[in-house]
Amino acid sequence: MNPDERKDWDTYFMDIAYMVSTRSRCNRRHVGAVLVQGKKLLGTAYNGAPSGVPDCSEAGCMIAEEYEMKSVDGKETMIKKQRCIRTIHAEQNLLLFTDRIDREGSSVYVTDEPCWTCSNMLANSGITEVVFHRPYPKDTDKVSAMMGQKGIVFRRLEHYQPPQEAVMKVEN
Ligand SMILES: [Zn+2]
Ligand SMILES: [Zn+2]
Repeated sequence: MNPDERKDWDTYFMDIAYMVSTRSRCNRRHVGAVLVQGKKLLGTAYNGAPSGVPDCSEAGCMIAEEYEMKSVDGKETMIKKQRCIRTIHAEQNLLLFTDRIDREGSSVYVTDEPCWTCSNMLANSGITEVVFHRPYPKDTDKVSAMMGQKGIVFRRLEHYQPPQEAVMKVEN
């Protein structure tokens, strides 16, 4: 990049969310989230076990299996998925570590599209915008419908390229 060329704000805050995600110790997924009011950064969080409790790198992931419907070759099929349930999701940690008053009218930048539970909590947190990068198709339909009902801007940065050092491969 030309050193005189400044990053736009979306790129700037999503880059920070990705750098924050590198703090995560869950090998299955690194997620970072930041709270932004106007152009001011008000908080950062990543997915992790509660502080003082062994995390995924020490105790291993805590795997739960669940079934979900997925469209395979145009056919709805039931498939088995494994998820790590040891961690508090980045979005939930962000809500635990920020104040309601700061969240009113603010935006959340998060590396991954929020799951249903996080979306429900974000919708009730005072924030008015959610910006994400990696899609999480399982919950997209119900999450975007609910965000629409709440009048929360819900958008994906499709052409965004994360910083190389912060990227981790994730499975959906
Ligand atoms: Zn884990
Ligand atoms: Zn979540």
